[in-house]
Amino acid sequence: MAKIILTGDRPTGRLHVGHYVGSLRRRVELQNSGEFDKIYIMIADAQALTDNADNPEKVRQNIVEVALDYLSCGLDPAKSTLFIQSMIPELTELSFYYMNLVTVSRLQRNPTVKSEIQMRNFEASIPVGFFTYPISQAADITAFQATTVPVGEDQMPMLEQCREIVHKFNSVYGETLTMPQIMLPDNQACMRLPGIDGKAKMSKSLGNCIYLSDTEEDVRTKIMSMFTDPNHLKVSDPGKVEGNPVFIYLEAFARPEHFAEFLPDYAGIEELEEHYKRGGLGDVKVKKFLNNVMQSELAPIRERRAQWEKDIPAVYEILKKGSEEAEKVAADTLSKVRAAMKINYFDDAALIKEQMEKYAANKEN
Ligand code: ATP
Ligand code: MG
Repeated sequence: MAKIILTGDRPTGRLHVGHYVGSLRRRVELQNSGEFDKIYIMIADAQALTDNADNPEKVRQNIVEVALDYLSCGLDPAKSTLFIQSMIPELTELSFYYMNLVTVSRLQRNPTVKSEIQMRNFEASIPVGFFTYPISQAADITAFQATTVPVGEDQMPMLEQCREIVHKFNSVYGETLTMPQIMLPDNQACMRLPGIDGKAKMSKSLGNCIYLSDTEEDVRTKIMSMFTDPNHLKVSDPGKVEGNPVFIYLEAFARPEHFAEFLPDYAGIEELEEHYKRGGLGDVKVKKFLNNVMQSELAPIRERRAQWEKDIPAVYEILKKGSEEAEKVAADTLSKVRAAMKINYFDDAALIKEQMEKYAANKEN
């Protein structure tokens, strides 16, 4: 069976380092591993509109921002198909059919939808489109017959719901859709990177982000002002590393070569954490190290972005070509879905013959 990746991001803002460690870095590795037959990366503008219906300009502006972030991280249009969700109308048709396979109560139980409704204060007035976005996400994944979906931990309930839809569809209409597998980050710290304010998730909507496109100075200022252990007041105080975003970021970003280059007194993260817990290690020293680590990771991304920013028409052209290619694939799946659901009236010779014979038989009687 072909190995196919589908994943994407909402164009609700520039991408941040949470996206990077949660999904983007992995995608680039998978792309370059050569192990996958096809890789589809989607800018989910239609999904972004489900909670930004009154602000289409925001979504429109952020399409190119997300595309620039993709290209600057090393997603390569020669190896991965980059496309825009709303350019593929087949996805909406698939969603419409899948809606019949999901109950309202099942959607209400989806923990990610629940917490996102709360976060957006939607309790009293949830847009139907937002409420049903897990179904549209299932359409995105299945349209490309994706086998692998590399995403952060917050997407687990979405994948579970998608798998239920695939199972239901295939058992009602016959084996048609591919069952996808989630691929989570292998490092716990990358599952759900906290914000610089210490909140559980770095999120565009919460404004607690270090963006991939932030300047060197912005990154430094944000790191130096980061939330740490509030009880670690004096350098000599013992500190806590659990839930301390500075250490979580180090776990997500710092590699042995960073220690060798920037902090050779410590063999690795364990030694640094031990020292912090014992007391005698100041936040400023740890933050300076984190800044060096992040700057060395972000500098090449920033440089590639600056190059692409000089050729915006080329970025749109990549998305246009990718969208055209993606639509062909989605159309092929849709025609299989229609056939399985028996709503392919005009290309079903057997149906016409069957009806003809029924009427011929009626006449004879
Ligand atoms: P929004 O607030 O508009 O929902 P977001 O910041 O949550 O934006 P998405 O576009 O919803 O970003 O998520 C894109 C991908 O990035 C998903 O795979 C998601 O799991 C992953 N991701 C987002 N935030 C984080 C994070 N803080 N840590 C790890 N992965 C993340
Ligand atoms: Mg999100």
